[in-house]
Parts: sequence; C-alpha cells; structure tokens
Amino acid sequence: MSERITENERFGTNLFHENVMKKYISGESLEVWRECVRTRTVLPEKIAADIADGMKRWALEKGATHYTHWFQPLTGETAEKHEGFLIPDGRDGYRMEFSRKELLRGEPDASSFPSGGLRSTFEARGYSAWDPTSYAFIKDKVLCIPTVFCAYSGEVLDKKTPLLRSCEALNRQAVRILRLLGDEKTEGVQVNVGAEQEYFLIPKALFQKREDLRLCGRTLFGADAPKKQELEDHYYGAIKPQITAFMQDLNEELWKLGICAKTEHNEVAPAQYEMAPFFTDANTANDQNQLTMEIMKRVAEKHDLVCLLHEKPFAGINGSGKHVNWSVSTDKGENLFSPGTTPADNTRFLLFLAAFLKGVDEYAELLRCSAAYAGNDHRLGGQEAPPAIISVFVGTELERVIDSIIREEPYVDRGDHYLTVGKDILLQLSKDNTDRNRTSPVAFTGNKFEFRMPGSSQSIASPVTYLNTILAQELKEISDSLEGCEDRLQAVKALIRDMFRDHKRILFNGNGYDQAWIDEAQARGIKNLRNTAETIPEYNSEKNVRLLTENGIYSREEIESRNEIHQEKYCGITIIEARTMLEMIRKGIFGALSAYLASLSGDFDFEKKLSKKAGSLGNALLQEMTKLEEAVQEAEAAEPKKKLKIASEEIVARMADCRKIIDQLEKIVDERFWPYPNYTQLLFTI
Ligand code: ADP
Ligand code: MG
Repeated sequence: MSERITENERFGTNLFHENVMKKYISGESLEVWRECVRTRTVLPEKIAADIADGMKRWALEKGATHYTHWFQPLTGETAEKHEGFLIPDGRDGYRMEFSRKELLRGEPDASSFPSGGLRSTFEARGYSAWDPTSYAFIKDKVLCIPTVFCAYSGEVLDKKTPLLRSCEALNRQAVRILRLLGDEKTEGVQVNVGAEQEYFLIPKALFQKREDLRLCGRTLFGADAPKKQELEDHYYGAIKPQITAFMQDLNEELWKLGICAKTEHNEVAPAQYEMAPFFTDANTANDQNQLTMEIMKRVAEKHDLVCLLHEKPFAGINGSGKHVNWSVSTDKGENLFSPGTTPADNTRFLLFLAAFLKGVDEYAELLRCSAAYAGNDHRLGGQEAPPAIISVFVGTELERVIDSIIREEPYVDRGDHYLTVGKDILLQLSKDNTDRNRTSPVAFTGNKFEFRMPGSSQSIASPVTYLNTILAQELKEISDSLEGCEDRLQAVKALIRDMFRDHKRILFNGNGYDQAWIDEAQARGIKNLRNTAETIPEYNSEKNVRLLTENGIYSREEIESRNEIHQEKYCGITIIEARTMLEMIRKGIFGALSAYLASLSGDFDFEKKLSKKAGSLGNALLQEMTKLEEAVQEAEAAEPKKKLKIASEEIVARMADCRKIIDQLEKIVDERFWPYPNYTQLLFTI
C-alpha cells in the first residue's frame, strides 16, 4: 500500500485514501483494515460492511451515480461494468444501494474475456473480488473498486492476482533470509515500482485520416520524413505550448487519482514524450500505470490530440517503451538493493544482488517473454534500446567489486577505500556507479534495477511478477542451503562468491547495439529470442512451469492458458494489420496512383519517366499484395501452431515487401492525390 496521502486540495481528491477513510468509517474499522492489509489477512464481515457504507457516502457526496468492479483481464487492459447506486424501493421510493456484498464480490460474465481454454463455455461465470490493498477511486462519476478476477472454478483470469501472489512469495522468502542473516526486526518487505511511460502525441485530425492508426495504433507504411531525430534536438527540448497544456491537464487529472506525476519531458523522437510517476508499491504502481494510460488517451482527445501508446507507431525513429524501475524495501524503510553503511548491510546487499543476477541468468527467457508482444517486436532488437538479448548492467565499479569477490582478492576503490572481501566488506560506491548505459535491458541504477524491455502499451503486471518471482526463488534456494550451516557468515560469503562466479556471464557493460555483442552473447550461451514467435515455446518450458507453480503464482493449466492467449493475440494482431494494409492499398493507394497517372499529360520527358516508374511500382505492388492476401487466407484457415508460423514468418515478411513499394510510391505521387497524411505532417505539425 502506498505512503500516506495527507490532505491536499488538488492531490488524491478522487481517491478513497486513508485520510478520507478516517472521515467516513469508524476508527476501529480503520484499525482492523490497516492490520488486515499489513498482515494480508481477510477482512471481517462487519468491517467490510462499515467500509462499504463509508465508501458509498463518500462517492455519493462526490456526485458518483454508479460503481464498478475495476479489473485487469488478460487483454492487458482494464475492464469495468457500471452498476447504478439507485434502485426502486417500494412503490414510489428510490434508495441508494451499495453494501458489503456489492463491495466484496461482483459477477461479470467471463465468457467474453480471454481465458485460453480455462473457462468452458457452459461455465461462463466469473467473479471479481475486492482488493482491499488498493484504494478505490472515482472516475467519471463512477466509483471504481480495484478487484481481482477469477473463473468460477477458481482459475485466475487477470493480471493483478499473480502480481499480488508474487509480492507475497517474495515477502515470504525475503523475511526468511533476513532472519537467517540475523535480522529480527523486519516483518515484511515491499516491492517498489516506478514505471516511466513513453508516448507520442499527434493531431487528431490527421490521426482520423489514417485507417492504420485507427485500427492498429501504428502506421503500416510511410516514407521517412526528410528530418528524423538526427539533430538530437527533441530530447529534453523546450515543450511546445499545445503539449504543455496537455501535460498540465494530464497532471491535474493524475493528481486527482493520487498518481504523483513527477517528471515530464520531450523524448528522443519527434512528437514523443515521457511521464514518470513517483514510485510506489508494486500493486498500486500497476493500477496507476493502467489508469495513466487511459487518462493520457482521454486528456489528449480534449486537446484535439491523439496519444499513441503503441511501441512503434512510426518506422525509422525511436519507439516507445516503459522502463520498470524496481526495488525491494523492508517495512522499516531499508532498501535491500542499497549498498549499506555497515559491513553487515553490505553483506546483505551483495547477497540480494548476487541472488538477483543468478535469477536473471537462470530465467532470462521468462523475463524476455514478459515483454514479448507483436508491437514490441518492432522495437526490441532494432537500432534502439534495448536489444532482445537479456543482460544486466551494473556499472564498472560494481563489476570490479564483483570480480574481486570472485577472485577472493581485496578491492581498492578509486577513493582509496579498502575493501577486504572475504572478511568484512565495506562498500561505498561512488555516485558514478549509476553511469548510464542506455542500451542495457536490465540496469542497476544505484539502489534499484531498471527493466527496460517492456513495451509502452503493455501492462507492467507480468514483468514485475516475474522479477519478484525469480528473486523469491533464488532467496528460497539460498535459505534452504543456509539453514543447516554452522558458520553462517562464512557460508553466505562463499555463496555470494559462487553465485557471482557462476552467473557473471549475464553481466554486460558494453554497447548492446553492436553485432559483436550478439556474437558474444551467443558464445556465452545467452539466448537471443528475436521476436514473440520465438519466445512462445520458451514460456511454458519445464523450468518456468516449476518456478511459477512452486512459488504459488500459477497452476500449470494457468500457464498453458496464458501461453495460448499470448499466441492468439499475436496472430490476431498480425492478421488485423495485414487486412488493414490490404484495404488501404485497395481503397486508397491504387486509386491515388491511377489519378496521379491520369494527371500526367505525358508531353514531357520528366512526366514519362515518372509515369513509368510509378506504373511499374504499382504493378509490383499488385504482385506483392496478392502474396499477402494469400498468406492471410492461409493463416485464417490454419490451426494455432501453423497460424503462428504463417503470421510471424509469411505475413510479417509480405507486409514488409508491400511497405517498401508503398513508401517509394509515396515519394513520387503528387501530394494532392496521396490519401494519407505523411510522416512530416504527422510528426512535425505541432
Ligand atoms: P531516470 O533517470 O531513468 O528517469 P529516475 O531516477 O528519475 O530515473 O527514476 C525513474 C523512476 O524510478 C521514477 O518513477 C522513480 O520514482 C523510480 N524510482 C526511484 N527510486 C526507486 C526505487 N527505489 N524503487 C523503485 N522505483 C524507483
Ligand atoms: Mg529510465
């Protein structure tokens, strides 16, 4: 649960946070609720009734007319179904109904949400259950109650439940190891997350003229604008007034919901921006990021803009990601990834660091899977950060420390601090240990890790779930081996050394764009899973199934179903994109080309030349589009495995072929005839 929000007339005004709760529910109920949240136990009925009543009064005073269980199905988006408070009461009366029952449980029809075969059609019911660790909020006069979502038979159908489970697994294992290290005071740990959100803003009027943007969220073709991002003049540049107005409005809206929008700036590509909130606990951060994406889109509309959250709306310039900043802290506020000020703290830091590196090395494929989506395929592994190969950047100083630990040699830092590794370690990393390496998919930035692979449009729930789970697993193994040890400190040190030694291959401080790294990674045995299709068989590998089932995150069936959904979604998106492209060719591009050719008198040499060039490109396009049509038809009729193959190999390649021709045509055909706004207009109008 996030830090306390104190009264502020602009912040958290639409959030039922602790200070508001104080006014609407009894002190006793508040106390019990707090304890239940802290100890993660079920709320007694009477208290739930009290909270429901308070929530209702607050919401009605705020002008709410409806309430909804707000949940996060496997579409990666959020879902809500509004119920009115008002119901007829007797013959002419009406009353406002909302009680414990409505707060605790809802029964949305689960049949239209992806379930990957988990929910058979005859058992369409699903239920949503209140998550009391995340505050309720009001959005558009609707009281939104954050909930988890399950099938009636108990299988999990959402993204929040596994996240909560992984936080719990990590909590269990972290406390256990802290006890073994002699820490008697820590009672729990919290996962902290700050998700930096990148996005594009373009004029709404232009967006509406492009079917690809409307249906797919990205341009399927478009010749390069004469100017791209080569002058590096957009990043951190002065923000244009129309964009500033959008950002101000966005900040106000986010503040109302208790989302602390902290930084905002222009990003690398033209028309690209970023917003980073202040970090908070993982569950809240995940809810907040889902809300942020929704609010961004809406506020943009109000400013006659469209917010594109797609990972790669435009070829040739940077795409958008979501940097997931992640750390773990104790209930006493100590960050477990902070190098400490005492030898004991440093041992703990090194143990957590080593455990995490080992986890990333052992479960690199799973982390890669958590960022594998059709949209992200256009971004990862291209000439922009990060590559598709998992590695960790820790900075040169920490890497030298790690090396000296492996060699069991003393380490002398640049400030002449003498560290005797093997005896007691006193680590003082200088500030530049957070030296920025912008190409690494996982970077240590002083006291947290930054996972940079996730795409801008995706939910952060899965990436965070896996980061938590792999650390929980490693800590568990460490505790298991330490439990019987006599000289525990010695054993811890040996373990740290062994883990660093055995998993050092995952460290990489160099340039991730280099072909040399791709070769080097291969030599080190680190997989290069280049796209979604290549990750799908990895997801449900025995190793991952064991990890996820043993830590209580998923059952085997849930893993299989998620894999199926992933695959369906990938194929679905690819086929929709192909159909959209075909329609734009048939209805827009051929017509434009004919009109253009007809407009040429043919009296002059330059016209003859243009006509010949454009005409032969048209013929080539006809040929390529026919191949694309065939591939789509074939995919539509194929069973899932075959469909994945056709979509990822055939359709993607045929679309690239069509695009190449269309982009050449766009450069020739007179602007008066070309039916779609071009990149210069889309990116440089504001
Ligand atoms: P950058 O230079 O990459 O933008 P910042 O230091 O500004 O990095 O932080 C980026 C994000 O990381 C913010 O959302 C911030 O709140 C979050 N963050 C900072 N410290 C932590 C932490 N200890 N744990 C998790 N997230 C954090
Ligand atoms: Mg960052």
